[in-house]
Amino acid sequence: MRIVMKFGGTSVADAERIRHVAALVVSATAEHNVVPVVSAMDQVTEMLLDLADAAASGNSMQAEALLKAVRDKHLAAAYALGAQQAVTALLERLEGLVRGVLALEELTPRARDAIVAFGERLSCAMLAHVLGARAMDGREAGIVTDDHFGEADPLMDLSMYQVGQSLGPLLDAGERVVVTGFVAANQHGVTSTLGRGGSDYTATILGAALRADEIWIYSDVDGLMTADPRSVPDARLLARLSFAEAVEMGKFGAKSMHPRALEPAAAHGVPVRMRSTFKPEHPGTLISDKQAEGGAGAEGGRVSIVRCVPMLKNLAMVNIGGAAMIGRPGSASEVFAALAGQRVNVHMICQSVSEAGISLVVGGGQLDRAKGALEKTLRGVGSPRTIEVVPNVCVVAAVGSGMRGTRGVAARIFTSLARAGVNVIAIAQGSSEMSISIVVEASAGPLAVRAIHDEFSLGS
Ligand code: ASP
Ligand code: MG
Repeated sequence: MRIVMKFGGTSVADAERIRHVAALVVSATAEHNVVPVVSAMDQVTEMLLDLADAAASGNSMQAEALLKAVRDKHLAAAYALGAQQAVTALLERLEGLVRGVLALEELTPRARDAIVAFGERLSCAMLAHVLGARAMDGREAGIVTDDHFGEADPLMDLSMYQVGQSLGPLLDAGERVVVTGFVAANQHGVTSTLGRGGSDYTATILGAALRADEIWIYSDVDGLMTADPRSVPDARLLARLSFAEAVEMGKFGAKSMHPRALEPAAAHGVPVRMRSTFKPEHPGTLISDKQAEGGAGAEGGRVSIVRCVPMLKNLAMVNIGGAAMIGRPGSASEVFAALAGQRVNVHMICQSVSEAGISLVVGGGQLDRAKGALEKTLRGVGSPRTIEVVPNVCVVAAVGSGMRGTRGVAARIFTSLARAGVNVIAIAQGSSEMSISIVVEASAGPLAVRAIHDEFSLGS
């Protein structure tokens, strides 16, 4: 089989972990044709972003301190692995860039990408050294993006073609490579990055382009769970999930994938397996097109309608009200245009059929920006609108493709919440019927998750 193996930051956190990853690659190589993809070492992306900001604001003390921290961390690992030559050369180039930014006190998104890309280039160089493989960055591998630096979108057809052309023949010839996650280049060859968590995306793009049999995403968790075990002690690992269910779950949880990472895999039918570096023998969670055996939602012989109950925290709700919106086309577009103008991401939307109010859920950190944008725009439109905010909410979702067309699911969900004494603030269900999202007060979130989890007997 051809397998893309992607290792997250904690999997390459130090020399010992990198050796462990190398051992996993070597043992997989005995059986399969393997393409390893690596993230930056744990915390390095954050350090590099801070470093870029410190340099841009001319704070040379802080920049030097961060530069030293990045250098020390990588050199410690590099010496232990004997990879100091490659690592030192990369660190020198990083230093050169940072000094340029410091001197100019200016940081373009493009320069920021050039700096942050060093995280993956460094970890890739080390793993490649241990494996005796060739280190390739995303650009050499052929991933081409638009110019949206910081969160670039791959030009998919071109990338598919180029990856096939560049990596395909190497792999067919049995050459060993390691590819940087996250890093790509625009059409002019200028370094870009795919957004936070983008190494997952790299892995699925490569998997699709190279017609891999599976894409294995390694992290420090065993796979996807029925709920966060911190809220639900008897949460279980999910053995299988459909792409559609995984997409619904996608944005929940700290260990979630890059939001668009499943797209290329789903589009090309390449199964994705989420697994743990710490338990290499454990099969993890398989995300594929195929239904679990025994029909939708079967899990170890059990069939469940709701498969998992993820929760999204640190959110706020904004309610926009006013009779002026009733029957007036364009009201919603004013609201969303105002938010988009301030780059506020909207997680959830509700509007009742009376049209007298729109409720939206935004990230807690974006609340002030959202409110400011709405006040400015809507107060100016002539007809009065009220803007009310509810800080500190969370969204609990019930997800499962077995919910589609099954009667009584909503009734069971809300009855279980009522029994647990949870007040429901707002609800959304898309017509895919694959998930119901419920806004509750932040403090009631874990209780709500447990209530739904118990109702559908998802625990062990
Ligand atoms: N290193 C990048 C990040 O931390 C990309 C990744 O790890 O997937 O966001
Ligand atoms: Mg990371």
